[in-house]
Amino acid sequence: MPSRVRRGALAAALALVTLAALQPGIAPAGARGMGPLPPCRYDDIMTTPRGYDDWSTTLVDTILRVPRSYIPPDLVSVSKAGIAGRGKVRAIVIDDLRAMAEAAAAAGNAIGVQSAYRSYESQQAVFDGWVANNGYASALTFSARPGHSEHQLGLAIDFRSDPGGSPFTGSWGSTPAGSWMKKHAWEYGFIRSYPPNDQRVTCYANEAWHYRYVGRDLAAAIRASGLTLRQYLWANFTTTVVPAVTPRPGHTVKPTALPASPEASPEPSATEGTTFAPETAEPTRPSSPGAAPSALGPSGATAPNPPPIDASPVADLDPAVAAGLGAALIGVLLVMVLVLRRGRSGAGL
Ligand SMILES: [Zn+2]
Repeated sequence: MPSRVRRGALAAALALVTLAALQPGIAPAGARGMGPLPPCRYDDIMTTPRGYDDWSTTLVDTILRVPRSYIPPDLVSVSKAGIAGRGKVRAIVIDDLRAMAEAAAAAGNAIGVQSAYRSYESQQAVFDGWVANNGYASALTFSARPGHSEHQLGLAIDFRSDPGGSPFTGSWGSTPAGSWMKKHAWEYGFIRSYPPNDQRVTCYANEAWHYRYVGRDLAAAIRASGLTLRQYLWANFTTTVVPAVTPRPGHTVKPTALPASPEASPEPSATEGTTFAPETAEPTRPSSPGAAPSALGPSGATAPNPPPIDASPVADLDPAVAAGLGAALIGVLLVMVLVLRRGRSGAGL
């Protein structure tokens, strides 16, 4: 290949990788989570996107998480929406929350907030409480590990009736307020994250009280799709690379254990700033203390990873940024090759 052509090709390649490096928003090719969801399992992979401006499309589940440092910058009291109850949500939720609360009250089905934003540390306390009470394997099936809760996004609310007590029962979904929410919440931008009969794709049992705010447009699109929130975000927005699990020799990877009965999946009523005490928790528990979910199996093939550790900043590096850095490194190497070749041949143009 003539050196001029070669240099031209190198320059073009350099321009391309430089361009890629300058655009961290571009995901690596093939990284989008298109296609079937990963089967339910437990992992600790950083979700992408997860910028605070990407709030509506950020997916957390039993596999994907946000870092400990994820604290929405615009948390405000739910009381700003004129709704009963305590807790915080992102300010972007307030207008629609107010509209929904007013509409529910006008229909005679007033709603209140049972639990809203939870910090990483708060969720850790909640989860640890369940672990102490039920054991790690059991707690996993109905309580999100820290980093994996939609409540940390400042977008999830556990609703209750107003007036009313804890909604963490098997029947709240059938109350007037629960039924009203089922029909109308999406009109105000709220999607029920864990609907009944979808445990195999949401990885959690039915939670009639738990809604995630995504904004009215996205909520309408999700509603029209017939998909769950997790499926929809995965298919359209999530760009995280989730490696397939390779079964260890002699072991079969089974779907994640799920709570035995719908509506039995509790969510501790702890709110920000409170200390979680399992014995005083409202919810019923899906299994007797100490009972391990059978689907996990003795093989440990689907044994969960240890709780997430945020010690390494590298672990929080956005894959797109990492790709950009990688591309920049390749660019530097190409320049070095070019310089070396020129030096060796002594050829100027
Ligand atoms: Zn919840």
